[in-house]
Amino acid sequence: MPFEYIPPLLRPSSGKIVLLVMDGLGGLPTEAGGPTELEAAATPNMDRLASEGMLGQITPIRPGITPGSGPAHLALFGYDPLEYEIGRGVLESVGVGLQVGRGDVAARGNFCTLDSEGNISDRRAGRIPTEEAIPLVESLKTINIPGVKTEVRHVKEYRFAVVMRGESLNPDIEDTDPQQVGIPPLPAVARSPAAEQTAQLFNQWMKQAREVLAGQPQANGMTLRGFATDPNLPTFSDSYGLKGAAISVYPMYKGVASLVGMQVINFTGETPGDEFAALADTWSDFDFFFIHIKKTDSKGEDGDFYGKAEIIESVDKALPRLLDLGPQVLVITGDHSTPAKLRTHSWHPVPFLLWAPDTVRPDNQERFGERACANGGLGNFPAVQTIPLALAHAGRLEKFGA
Ligand code: ZN
Repeated sequence: MPFEYIPPLLRPSSGKIVLLVMDGLGGLPTEAGGPTELEAAATPNMDRLASEGMLGQITPIRPGITPGSGPAHLALFGYDPLEYEIGRGVLESVGVGLQVGRGDVAARGNFCTLDSEGNISDRRAGRIPTEEAIPLVESLKTINIPGVKTEVRHVKEYRFAVVMRGESLNPDIEDTDPQQVGIPPLPAVARSPAAEQTAQLFNQWMKQAREVLAGQPQANGMTLRGFATDPNLPTFSDSYGLKGAAISVYPMYKGVASLVGMQVINFTGETPGDEFAALADTWSDFDFFFIHIKKTDSKGEDGDFYGKAEIIESVDKALPRLLDLGPQVLVITGDHSTPAKLRTHSWHPVPFLLWAPDTVRPDNQERFGERACANGGLGNFPAVQTIPLALAHAGRLEKFGA
């Protein structure tokens, strides 16, 4: 259990909690004294919420540590990623709807291009489009390894997920991606004797896969990485007494949410408005909603400062639809920072807005931005404390002790 002291304090309440995550929200000025992406964005709705609510900053993992999105989300859900580790293979697999049960081993696969000597000439197979990759993934489903069952599913472009099910499988296996071109993919190598047999099974699978793919102009090879099994996390419901729903366009975030027992909501479209419409459709069925916006992070990684600001603006424009539903608690934050200036994730703390009209203590901040958050009343705190704080403002926690 992430917080042993929480379950005994839980009490029923009808107050609903919304956790709105703009991936990679935190930014940096591109020049000294300039605005960050969030500060440059026109966000009248979020600014109003900031003035009515309370601001702060969260540290995703530990100060100075740059997080991946998987661990950063786990932290937001209250599970310390240093305590609860989830392999990339599991995240990718559950994200596309492949179950990863106890004892199963999941890996993330990348198609690659091999030259006539079997050396990698492109680690991403020319980033083949999804339409071309799907039939290739279908052909991989014909592979049969005696004694185990394998399932393969396409993720996006050159990426797929593979899950192996059988007796005594063990995920303690090195990645087969050598991280460079000009040499062949590595074999699956066990890091411990207990994983020896599993590594050999994956080697058999990859050998057959290469036979299936032989003759393909681009995707004639593959690498596997992130071998992992079900982390068997305590559920969101047991940990916090919340029936949670996840609304996300991208598979990996659905994956993390489903690993903690949130229900993944299917919907059409991919704009913030589409996501808020899905929220409205399921509003009466859940206590807690995690909504994930991906493109803030993508634009940050592209180094597109104004593009990232525009995505934030598009979320702000759609926000009234969410507010009309009347959440008792709304948290708007990110999983980590992705400053356009750095074109990558960073260790900086993340802007955090808590809006809870019945219980929040305002802090004289009037805009949602990094500077305001640095001066906010919530201060700087660990991301894992987000859910307990939200539970309190939703009236879901009894007092501790007499
Ligand atoms: Zn992220």
